[in-house]
Amino acid sequence: MDKIKMPVPLVEMDGDEMTRIIWKMIKDILITPYVELNTEYYDLGLTHRDETGDKVTVDAANAIKKYGVGVKCATITPNAQRVEEYNLKSMWKSPNGTIRAILDGTVFRAPITLSTVKPVVSNWNKPITIARHAYGDVYKNTEFLVDEKGTAELVFTNEAGQEKRQTIFNFEGGGIIQGQYNVDSSISSFARACFNYALDTKQDLWFATKDTISKKYDHRFKDIFAEIFENEYKEAFEAAGIEYFYTLIDDAVARVIRSEGGFIWACKNYDGDVMSDMIATAFGSLAMMTSVLVSPDGYYEYEAAHGTVTRHYYRHMEGEETSTNSVATIFAWTGALRKRGELDDSSELICFANNIERAVIETIESGKMTKDLAGLSATANKEILNTEDFIKAVRDTYEKIK
Ligand code: NAP
Ligand code: MG
Repeated sequence: MDKIKMPVPLVEMDGDEMTRIIWKMIKDILITPYVELNTEYYDLGLTHRDETGDKVTVDAANAIKKYGVGVKCATITPNAQRVEEYNLKSMWKSPNGTIRAILDGTVFRAPITLSTVKPVVSNWNKPITIARHAYGDVYKNTEFLVDEKGTAELVFTNEAGQEKRQTIFNFEGGGIIQGQYNVDSSISSFARACFNYALDTKQDLWFATKDTISKKYDHRFKDIFAEIFENEYKEAFEAAGIEYFYTLIDDAVARVIRSEGGFIWACKNYDGDVMSDMIATAFGSLAMMTSVLVSPDGYYEYEAAHGTVTRHYYRHMEGEETSTNSVATIFAWTGALRKRGELDDSSELICFANNIERAVIETIESGKMTKDLAGLSATANKEILNTEDFIKAVRDTYEKIK
């Protein structure tokens, strides 16, 4: 049988540790037997990032701008211990942060759901996708402790030297103070990324802030979303039969719990940080969470939400067998291949990606799974497979359904 052709390359970013091992297995066992895989390869493994002074990460991000779609393996974000372990020249920044800064994107995270793993919230029968605004607010705050009587003020000085000044609080003694900011351009691209992704995936979009209390700061988010929706997206949403819905954050939390799922929940930076962990855990596990970075210019970068699974890697290096879950990494590949297929009008590639995903789900639902899922799954006849045998089992299922 002829392999599926890919006229335009995909930007492939290799990574570290256990996920690097899985990366190769997925390509060898699930993809290259069926697809004439056309990628522009960037090795984001820590050793090569160090050798190139992290230039490889910047080059990879620019390649995504050129070709439109990338797929990334999990990578180590070095800390002091890693600098020693890998004898690094520098404590390189998080590759995800670097790529996000270049593509200016929003990260969408969605759980991969199974009929045999019931979410903790029993009425959630469709996945909930979290879109987190990954810029500013408390993550870029300025704060200090106050330990005497005095006045705290908010001061803005323009280029001409004119001041705008407002009293925050008259302290009688000890306390704390914090300053935060965000910028219209970032909030606007966040809004557009959310509206585009909602149209792309034909799901309603929810957005919530605390604008009743934060009448300027949070209200600005609400206004920018409303204005962009009215002017640029309203008609397309109507045509697609989807809705944009704004509410207060506390109301949103209550509605999310009562919902059936099947929508995108856009969150301010802190809300997204907290809520994405809650959603992932309530749906099952981080190993079943996909993640895609969508830029306002229409570039896509797919990855797994989890890290490099270091503990399993050390065991693997000791020659021990591991049972590491490859599902989120497989879905990163299928997400990227499907998007490539959509952009290049290749129904074969789209069909391949869909069938591989179906094969993953059917394999697990039939009882064959990795160890992490065994405790969650309600299947009667569970068979725990090692890392490689699970991927081979997916291939066997794919062979039957293709
Ligand atoms: P992690 O790699 O996500 O793993 C944490 C634990 O979660 C694992 O030890 C394992 O638990 C479980 N787990 C995660 N993914 C799994 C999978 N696919 N299959 C089975 N179990 C899985 O997080 P970490 O240990 O905090 O971080 C390790 C490295 O990853 C760090 O160097 C960090 O910088 C990097 N990281 C990268 C990214 C990224 O590139 N996007 C994201 C996060 C972290 P058990 O050991 O109990 O089985
Ligand atoms: Mg967090």
